[in-house]
Amino acid sequence: MALKLEIGDILILKKNHPCGGNRFMVMRTGMDFRLKCLTCNTQIWIDRPNLEKRVRGIEPANQKPE
Ligand SMILES: [Zn+2]
Repeated sequence: MALKLEIGDILILKKNHPCGGNRFMVMRTGMDFRLKCLTCNTQIWIDRPNLEKRVRGIEPANQKPE
């Protein structure tokens, strides 16, 4: 599975962050991705294979309200 992920996209992951949130914004793409938890604002690094396994849904940046 090759996901098309862009900076600003909101990802819903299968596994919640320790803070309880499961929505993350893509901050940087590449071999490794930097995501920001939208619940507690913590930034995490994750490699693409692991990320693709964990993504449950994507809200593209250009479909965000406002
Ligand atoms: Zn969090």
